[in-house]
Amino acid sequence: MGVHREAYLRIREELDAAGVTLVAVSKTKPVADILELYELGQRDFGENYVQELTEKAAQLPADIRWHFIGHLQTNKVKTILPLVQLIHGVDSLKLLQEISKQSGRLGRVTDCLLQVHIAREETKFGLDEEELQQLQQRIAGSSLPFTRIRGLMGMASFTEDKTVVRGEFRSLKKIFDRLATESGPRFEMEILSMGMSGDYPIAVAEGSTLVRIGSLLFGERN
Ligand SMILES: *Cc1c(COP(=O)(O)O)cnc(C)c1O
Repeated sequence: MGVHREAYLRIREELDAAGVTLVAVSKTKPVADILELYELGQRDFGENYVQELTEKAAQLPADIRWHFIGHLQTNKVKTILPLVQLIHGVDSLKLLQEISKQSGRLGRVTDCLLQVHIAREETKFGLDEEELQQLQQRIAGSSLPFTRIRGLMGMASFTEDKTVVRGEFRSLKKIFDRLATESGPRFEMEILSMGMSGDYPIAVAEGSTLVRIGSLLFGERN
């Protein structure tokens, strides 16, 4: 039970040395555990569910930077926007339009990452390369004054085969580099969100700038 303090301090040092941002993924974990890492200096936390994030944020210090890393539904944008620093899983123009509209109402610009599907597993979430290119073009042709695309997010396959994982991260980095040079206004590509508990060292070696780590810090989830 409780937070893995030693692991946290070790991982933090390792990532600091590499210049990589650590997002502590606290989904399903109690507020007390989040506070424990907060007291060790952690400020970036990631949550997947709107209601859980809303409830936790209300009980925790206001200088926490919340990352929304789950799948965001358009009708929930309004609820979480005032709380979040960065939305990781954007994969449609419709969602971006809503984020822009609601951000405008709040008088702010919201940073977003586009989610790219790189894993072998089938999932509804994330864009393949072709869809990403289409979305890139549609973004270029749209008015989205209150959003900024800061980078990409992706998840590698759940496999022990490190070669596969490395290859997937490498492909995401390639896409990131291409977008960073080609993309126009609304794009300020600086963040490559890849790497979790099981594969973050590989992700860092392949050019990740931000890792999302849960179970290594908070223990396994039920
Ligand atoms: C849960 C989750 C994580 C953290 O996973 P761990 O394996 O516990 O580190 C990272 N990213 C996303 C998108 C998640 O949903």
